[in-house]
Amino acid sequence: MDEAMGYVPTAREQAFLDTVESPKYDRQIISGLNTFLEGRAPEHMAGFYGEDELAALRALKGTERDVEARMPVKITRHYFELARQSPALQRLIKASPDETADLVGSEDPGHQMDFSPVEGLLHKYEMGLMYVVSTCSAHCRFCYREELIARKQVERADGTVGAKGLARIPEVTGYIRAHNRLVEQNGGRHPTSGREKLREILLSGGDPMVLPNNKLAPWLAALAEAGIESIRLGTKEMAFHPDRFDDAFLDMLDSFHATYPEVGFRLMVHFNHPDEFLQKDPDGAYIPNPNGTFKWNERTRRAMDGVVSRGWIRVENQAPIIKGINDDPDALRIMQRALKRVGAENHYFFCGRDIIAYRAFNVPIETAWHVLNESQKGLSGVETHARLSITHYKGKTEVAAVTNDPIPGVPGAEHGVVIFKILRNALDAGDRGKVCIVGRNPHALWFDDYADRVIYDEAGLFEYSRVEYARNAVPVETGSLA
Ligand code: SF4
Repeated sequence: MDEAMGYVPTAREQAFLDTVESPKYDRQIISGLNTFLEGRAPEHMAGFYGEDELAALRALKGTERDVEARMPVKITRHYFELARQSPALQRLIKASPDETADLVGSEDPGHQMDFSPVEGLLHKYEMGLMYVVSTCSAHCRFCYREELIARKQVERADGTVGAKGLARIPEVTGYIRAHNRLVEQNGGRHPTSGREKLREILLSGGDPMVLPNNKLAPWLAALAEAGIESIRLGTKEMAFHPDRFDDAFLDMLDSFHATYPEVGFRLMVHFNHPDEFLQKDPDGAYIPNPNGTFKWNERTRRAMDGVVSRGWIRVENQAPIIKGINDDPDALRIMQRALKRVGAENHYFFCGRDIIAYRAFNVPIETAWHVLNESQKGLSGVETHARLSITHYKGKTEVAAVTNDPIPGVPGAEHGVVIFKILRNALDAGDRGKVCIVGRNPHALWFDDYADRVIYDEAGLFEYSRVEYARNAVPVETGSLA
């Protein structure tokens, strides 16, 4: 394989790789808005965009408000069939002129490129994240990887500009080994960044599940050989094309587990709305089972059962709360119950990031908290594991509480407060657990909207010099690879 040029698998890796079957999948993808604009969509898809919608989108073609310059249009047949019956899913997948009305936002949300020691790898936390592919089976309009998927130019920490590249096995495994060797030699902490062993890797992109098994398997084996303890794979494929989770894929995972039983595997699925996996009747109502639970789409249920039935695989859902898609407590309540019942955990819900055009997609931070809190009323403890997280440049931050009443004697708290708490801090996690309290602003979409009403900031969310420290610290470690 190309990615592995310069990398020689061990006998154990090769024995695993020799077991892998790699079928092709027919996702029946429509790629590009022109298919609809030029009337070339298959007959069954005609009408997915109305004439008025097409006219408005056509008028933006080639202008700075061209919706596909921001994010290319792509949809699978499976998702199209689901979306036909779901306004929420249509909003997720259909391009809209509104999304480029305000193009304010960050080219590199979270300053991710500052934490990229080798191409395609982000090492911000104790875990590494890799871009192994730059597309998905379909494209969510709100995607916060739009700069990767649309191949945009992004500035790196060293001032150079270019499209984000993909990870390659030799470089990534070389970095992991070098980092972990230094950590070990230094008594468990990296000598400059203070980070611990790099023990967990998330395969991401784009969606790794668009890769065939014979491209995925070498990553699994190489990471296991490099000493990674747990591998995560982030995917929305169970919503876009659940048949990808077929016997050949499950056999590959079983073979990997038999070869590397000490390595954990987590599938991080991405469901935004129960319309993505529950059956609906012609009136749009979910179809109940005799006990009051709802019937799943059979293909999605087969895919989910296939992975959760392997007791060694953990399945966790995480999703942003997006305007017009899932800012709906009833939908989130149904989704959390249904996922937990079949063995998937509810991990995070996210506030939207400050991507380009974020104002078209993000609900206010306080609204997102309220929606999730309402959705969890009446759920059992195990059904309410999900927290609301917003990704600050410093790290993952929980929106822990929003209060309504004034706090007597506290200036700025006349309308209540929002309490943020750092869950995962970049580099050595030094600020984990620290909080920040701001006066309420029901319209706030991002941290900037609270900058004039900070009451208490132990977490340093509004001290940008501390963020700069984190950004500047990373290249030091990169240099240690030599
Ligand atoms: S599946 Fe994830 S990476 Fe792919 S378009 Fe949707 S949000 Fe973006």
